[in-house]
Amino acid sequence: MPGAERTAIGIIGNQGWIDESPFAALRGIREIIHVTKPYKLVGRDFHPSDTVIKIDDKTKIGGKNPLVIIAGPCAIESREQIFKTARYLKRLGVPILRGGAFKPRTSPHSFQGMREEGIEMLDEIRSKIGIKVVTEVMSPEYVSSVASRVDMLQVGARNMQNYDLLREVGRTKNPVILKRGLSSTVEEWLASAEYILLEGNRKVILCERGIRTFETSTRNTADLSVIPLVKKLTHLPVIFDPSHATGKRDLVYPMAQAASAVGAHGVMIEVHPDPEHALSDGSQSLDLKEFRKAYARILQLAGFIKKNRL
Ligand code: PEP
Ligand code: MN
Repeated sequence: MPGAERTAIGIIGNQGWIDESPFAALRGIREIIHVTKPYKLVGRDFHPSDTVIKIDDKTKIGGKNPLVIIAGPCAIESREQIFKTARYLKRLGVPILRGGAFKPRTSPHSFQGMREEGIEMLDEIRSKIGIKVVTEVMSPEYVSSVASRVDMLQVGARNMQNYDLLREVGRTKNPVILKRGLSSTVEEWLASAEYILLEGNRKVILCERGIRTFETSTRNTADLSVIPLVKKLTHLPVIFDPSHATGKRDLVYPMAQAASAVGAHGVMIEVHPDPEHALSDGSQSLDLKEFRKAYARILQLAGFIKKNRL
């Protein structure tokens, strides 16, 4: 890995401690650093500069690029619902539509998503409406077929440590949003990202979505401190999901602003044309008008932060 002042050679895939003496005797070796972190590819040691993920000519996530907003319903519920949302968001200028087709629900009696049919709709939306689409994959066997019909993949909190799934998304070329597990440490989260990079896919976007604590007045506890922390530890972009982090519609906008203020590269917000009747996560979803207002102000603050280099 060539750098400005030195060339670093990273040795990966080894178990345990390595004897450095054979390397120390080689000519041209200036320093030997033992990297004990379980995430060598994800860490900044061998990759100091920020990873920037290009979504399209206007949209890049990471580094010094403007805050990217991803919005859409928790789940695709009908053709009418997802097309209406997609058209609305496209008109506003939102670059990426989210929509779950394969839904990981706590209860097997809850709506499980439109699955294949939902994926077909996303594929149609991206070509007809011209908005990028992201959706969750839950099982390794669906990954390659879903990957060919959407722009970006999401690995949800419940699957953050599904290592076969991580390897499989690592074999695709799609950018992957990797959500932090419900009770996962930062080290575990970054080690999961390492699985994806190790298969060759370097386009990973980390997403903080709140963690489980003793607190029950919000759905999860928003751990915003990880945004500046993770930006120090890794070169990968990091975004925030204020919808799942709070579970409450009224808290989504202020927490999106907070995430932007602490340096998130993006925010992902759940939006539904009729939240009262949503089949999942209605209580944390903004309706279209609420989103429009929030969107304008989120962009305004992000622009102010950027302009003033705050
Ligand atoms: C989602 O994005 O709809 C979702 C299920 O999120 P999480 O995996 O963070 O719970
Ligand atoms: Mn949801």
